[in-house]
Amino acid sequence: MSIRVDRDLCTGCGSCVEICLYNGVAMINDIAQITDDCNLCGACVDVCPVEAIVIEREELKAEKMDLTQYRGVWIIAEHFKNKIHNVVFQLLGKGRELADALKVNLSLVILGANFDDNLKEFSQYGADEIIYIKSSILKDYYSDLYVKTLTELIIEHKPEIILIGATPMGRDFAPRVAKRVNAGLTADCTGLTIDIESRNLLQTRPTFGGNIMATIKTPTSRPQMATVRPGIFKPLKKSKRKVIIKKIDYDYNQKDSVSKIVKIINREKKKINLEEAEIIITGGRGVGSKENFKLIEQLADCLNAEVGGSRVAVELNWIEQDHQVGQTGKTVSPKLYIACGISGAIQHIVGMQGSEIIVAINKDPKAPILKLAHYGIVGDLQKVIPELIKKIKKIRTEKEI
Ligand SMILES: Cc1cc2nc3c(=O)[nH]c(=O)nc-3n(C[C@H](O)[C@H](O)[C@H](O)COP(=O)(O)OP(=O)(O)OC[C@H]3O[C@@H](n4cnc5c(N)ncnc54)[C@H](O)[C@@H]3O)c2cc1C
Repeated sequence: MSIRVDRDLCTGCGSCVEICLYNGVAMINDIAQITDDCNLCGACVDVCPVEAIVIEREELKAEKMDLTQYRGVWIIAEHFKNKIHNVVFQLLGKGRELADALKVNLSLVILGANFDDNLKEFSQYGADEIIYIKSSILKDYYSDLYVKTLTELIIEHKPEIILIGATPMGRDFAPRVAKRVNAGLTADCTGLTIDIESRNLLQTRPTFGGNIMATIKTPTSRPQMATVRPGIFKPLKKSKRKVIIKKIDYDYNQKDSVSKIVKIINREKKKINLEEAEIIITGGRGVGSKENFKLIEQLADCLNAEVGGSRVAVELNWIEQDHQVGQTGKTVSPKLYIACGISGAIQHIVGMQGSEIIVAINKDPKAPILKLAHYGIVGDLQKVIPELIKKIKKIRTEKEI
C-alpha cells in the first residue's frame, strides 16, 4: 500500500494536516506532503475536498474469495475442570443476536471430554447447534490440538463469524487459527453489530491508548473472527430451544501434541473474581495511600464485595494488578460499582461502564466519572466512606432486630 499527493489537484487548504493525529502530513510551500510518520490510516484521503490524496492498494488475494460460501455464527467454548467459562454464555447471547440478523444458525463448538450430560443444558443459552469434538485428551487445554482441530473444522464448515473469549486461552489459539484460515481477527472487541447488506461484522474496540473507538471490518475475507473480554455482553435468560447435537469422536493421543500437561497448579493467593462479582468497590489515586486503601477494603467487607483498583492505584502498589479494572485490566459488569477517588479516564470507563448501578465518590464536582455515575457523592472519601459504613451497619442491625 502506498500514499501520494497529486500536486496539481492540491489547493493547500490544510484540512489533511488538521485531521492527521500522527503528523503524517505537512504543508510545504502550500502543498500537502506525506511525512515518514504517516501510518496510512486514510483520514486525510477522506477529508480532502479535491481528492488530491490517494492511497494505492495492491489487489488483495482475499478479494477473490467467494464470501457466499460462508454462513453461520460460531462460538468457541472454553472450559477448565469441566466447567464452561462464563464468557461463552455471554458470547452466545451476542451470537444469537448476530445470527438472527443474518438469518443463520448459531453454533457452539466444544472441544472436550466429559460434556455428554451437559449439552442440552448449554443449548438453553441460544445455540441452534452444538458441535462437540470429543477426545479424552481434550479434558485439558492443548494449544496445538485446538489450533489444528478448529482450523480443520472451519475449512470444512465455513462459518461466517467466529467469536472467542479474550481470555488467556482464547488469546493463545485465536490468532493462530486466524492465520491458518487466512481470516481477519479483531482482538478485545467491546461492541459487535452487523451491516446487513454486506454481511460485514462491525467490530468496535478501543485503540490508541483508548482515546479512539475504532470500528473494524474485514470485507474481503471470511470467516470474520473476534475476541471479546468476559463481562462485555450479557448471557440470554435460559429458555428451551431445539438444538442439533453433532458429536464427533476424535482419536487424539498424547503424541499428537508437542506439549504435555504434567500438573495444573492453582495460584495460592486468594482468587479474585472481579468479572463475576455482584458488587465491586474500586479505589483510585484519590484514596491517597496504601494505608488508606484499608477504607476501601472495609467498605467492601461490609457489602460482601470485591475490591478493584484503577491503574494508578496498581502502579502505586496500593493493590495488586489482578484487581485492576479497565482497558488493560478486567472488564466488569456488577450490579453495583462504587468508584472511590477515581477521575473516570476513558481507559477506566471501558472496563466498568456495563455496571448496572454506578456510584462515584469524588471531591471534584467536575470529575468525568460523575457524568457516568447514576449516583454521585461529591466529597472527601475519607469522610464519606466511614459514614457509609456506619449507615450500612446501622441498617443491617435494624433489620436483624
Ligand atoms: C494504554 C493505556 C491503558 C490504560 N489502562 C487503564 C486501565 O486498565 N485502568 C485504569 O484505571 N486506567 C488505565 N489507564 C490510565 C488512565 O488513563 C488514567 O490515568 C487512570 O485511570 C487514572 O486513575 P485514577 O482515576 O485513579 O487517578 P486520577 O485520574 O488522578 O483521579 C483521581 C481522582 O480522585 C479524586 N480525589 C482526590 N482526592 C480525593 C478524595 N480525598 N476524596 C474523593 N476524591 C478524591 C480527584 O478529584 C480525581 O478525580 C490506561 C492508560 C493508558 C494510556
